[in-house]
Amino acid sequence: MDFPDLPPANKRLGQNFLIDPNIVRKIVALAEVTQETQALEIGPGRGILTEALCKAAGQVTAVEIDPRLHAYLAGRQAEFPNLTLVLGDALIYSFAELPVGTVVVANLPYYISTPLLFRLLEHRDRIPRMVLMLQNEVADRLAAKPGTSDYGVLSVMTQYAADITKAFRVSAQCFRPRPEVGSAVVLLRTKERRELNREEEPKFAALVKAAFAHRRKTLVNSLRDEGYDQAQVTEGLVSLNLPPSTRAEVLALDQFMRLTRAIASRY
Ligand code: SAM
Repeated sequence: MDFPDLPPANKRLGQNFLIDPNIVRKIVALAEVTQETQALEIGPGRGILTEALCKAAGQVTAVEIDPRLHAYLAGRQAEFPNLTLVLGDALIYSFAELPVGTVVVANLPYYISTPLLFRLLEHRDRIPRMVLMLQNEVADRLAAKPGTSDYGVLSVMTQYAADITKAFRVSAQCFRPRPEVGSAVVLLRTKERRELNREEEPKFAALVKAAFAHRRKTLVNSLRDEGYDQAQVTEGLVSLNLPPSTRAEVLALDQFMRLTRAIASRY
């Protein structure tokens, strides 16, 4: 199926447009969008998801970086009185101004999905849930459990901020052009309670990053190579009843938090 009237897809902007209305319906249902919902869509593209969101939600804001697609959707603005279109880069868009309770729904451009996800999670106080189409591998890493090869920084940091459900996989045939990678839709329900305080959070993020910096080494050695004091890390592990030979990938989220607390006062 071709769309001769529409601007051609720009691969560099991650433009793989959804063409399957069933997938669109499933995404909107998963997001539990109602007439009370204020929704944010990142990358509305040719508007297939935007249209469904505008029908289901009270108000929709859609941020698109491509001026051609923005102009195309602006031309259809009369169809969507509850749509606010923004021409801009979601990586610098001010999420801090979103109304509290905004639900994010997006078929993300895969080339920036990880930094975008981290930015969105920083603003989780105003975002109760997100339904995101991601590269399947990224979805697996988000939801990965300790002790698996997918478990890493992305898993720990996202699971700290949200409860994650990998909802369903999406075939490449549901897009035009077809992506070269597999896709999946995930639901992230952000956690209301912050387990760590504002001082501990950056220390936790730094520790998790350093812990996985050298995956083949033990946690103690990986942290030592990243500038942590070996004796203090060993002491921290012992206080958690973990042997010094422990590797980062077996530590559960709560153990990373406890290790942060055990050694945080020194960093
Ligand atoms: N929502 C549409 C759909 O499902 O068919 C399009 C999804 S397509 C995978 C990603 C969209 O994000 C494209 O429209 C692309 O132009 C847009 N995009 C890419 N980078 C962006 C950025 N930094 N900020 C906002 N939109 C961006």
